[in-house]
Amino acid sequence: MKEKVYFIPGVDNESDESLCAKLEKAIMANNLFSFVQANDMVAFKTHFGEEKTQGYVRPLNFKMMGDLLKQRRALPFLTDTATLYSGMRNQAISHIELAQRHGFGFERTGLPLIMADGLTGDEELEVPIPGRLYSKVKIASLIVKTQALVVVSHFTGHLASGFGAALKNMGMGCASRRGKLVQHSTATPSVKKKKCTACGACVKWCPVQAITMVENVAQIDKVICIGCGQCLTVCRFDAIGYNWSETYEQLQRKIVEHAWGVAVSKKDKALYINFLNRISKDCDCMGGYKKIVPDIGVLISFDAVALDAASLDLVEKRAGKPLTALAYDIPHRMQIDYAREIGFGNPDYQIVEIP
Ligand code: SF4
Ligand code: SF4
Repeated sequence: MKEKVYFIPGVDNESDESLCAKLEKAIMANNLFSFVQANDMVAFKTHFGEEKTQGYVRPLNFKMMGDLLKQRRALPFLTDTATLYSGMRNQAISHIELAQRHGFGFERTGLPLIMADGLTGDEELEVPIPGRLYSKVKIASLIVKTQALVVVSHFTGHLASGFGAALKNMGMGCASRRGKLVQHSTATPSVKKKKCTACGACVKWCPVQAITMVENVAQIDKVICIGCGQCLTVCRFDAIGYNWSETYEQLQRKIVEHAWGVAVSKKDKALYINFLNRISKDCDCMGGYKKIVPDIGVLISFDAVALDAASLDLVEKRAGKPLTALAYDIPHRMQIDYAREIGFGNPDYQIVEIP
């Protein structure tokens, strides 16, 4: 059976207000929030955009959707998780500050912003899955604990996974720091000797005492290290590195299995929305922005795999060429193909166009 994917067509350079009004009508007309009950805590998982990025989904959409959920007497909030790489978004404090500067403060959205993985990205819960690579995945604790989830993603190209949309936003974006580390790396972190100031913070915070100070430089015992990534967060001198060593194919398989963990934790209680506008070669973690495809519109589904399959097809149809020719030449359909292989979601979709 084919999975329904609702399609709200947009026009190129359509205003955010106009697209938001169309989305509101589509949600209302198709009763798309009916899976949310009174008193459900509902997480809007999105990406607030890295410094100098402009592509992220605009805050007014969350104000509109939050108000609709409040009418159902639910308890919606905004959320995201810490990044592995150093920058404004690698812990909660500057991440929230940046989100507020991008318009995601309470005064604009009417929604509290609560980081799903805590102050430093280490608050996680394990979700069992029948995966090939994992029997359980480490997901940010609030994502698992909340009663309902709305994953709102901005479709972009991506330098490691080919494209980023719902599956990427779930698999990588909802994983805890440790969950992200196992996806990106086949190795444990290592110390960049020249940058280490011997401040001792990593020694203090390592949960398994894998780090010692040797001749004024931190040293990681790779046998003891459990790959939690805590040292990456606490080091303020960018002296902890890790190997972005995973292959494109294996990274995508790992993302898909982590996304499966998110979906499993929210059976019948999740909705997925992809914005196919301001599509750029790189994701919203990268600064700068250049549109590579004319704007397409918004897609919605209760199945993240169907949604991403439909989104990718529409982007390539609109561009008249494969995404690999527009962004990065890597096997970008692996996410969809692997989901089909392991029995997660349904990549066969039927477009329901909303006039
Ligand atoms: S936290 Fe960073 S700078 Fe401080 S000792 Fe550890 S590696 Fe060195
Ligand atoms: S990754 Fe975690 S366990 Fe490994 S050295 Fe860093 S803090 Fe310790």
